[in-house]
Amino acid sequence: MNDAEKVKILLEVVRDEILPLTESESARGNASSGSAILRPDTLTSVMVGADNRLQNPLFHGDIDAINRFFKLPVHPPAEELIFLATHDPCPMCASAIAWAGFKELWVLFDSDKIEPAGSMQTSTAMYRNMFGTEGIRQENSFFVRHSIWKTVAASADRDELQALFDEIERRYASL
Ligand SMILES: [Zn+2]
Repeated sequence: MNDAEKVKILLEVVRDEILPLTESESARGNASSGSAILRPDTLTSVMVGADNRLQNPLFHGDIDAINRFFKLPVHPPAEELIFLATHDPCPMCASAIAWAGFKELWVLFDSDKIEPAGSMQTSTAMYRNMFGTEGIRQENSFFVRHSIWKTVAASADRDELQALFDEIERRYASL
């Protein structure tokens, strides 16, 4: 599977699995971050999560998926799986992804692509003020972070992928 084929499936997972869950959480007043934990060979989801900070301010979309994943009676080792985050993880979620053992992170809306607003603005302020950095290192000793948007932009099948990306972006904008 090349990167373009992979990103197409990741976008479909966002559209078909993460977004429906996020839309119902958002209607209850939660934020829009969501995530999925996927098998590397088929990119089928082992777990999907959505923001639930009404219940607990720490339950961002990434934390929700990690909590649900570790409640499964049986699951593959985290280090073999792919972590898909709709929004660039905040310092808490980035650390949680590392502590959980995931090695491969894909981000839909990365902080280079979107103007940080709402909780993403807080996240950027935390990176700057607490750690003196602008965000996660693309490659670090815990995981490699990939940008879906940059992969779409560099793809030979750009038009089809861009259309799918734009459709998803519109749905997030309407939340
Ligand atoms: Zn977070």
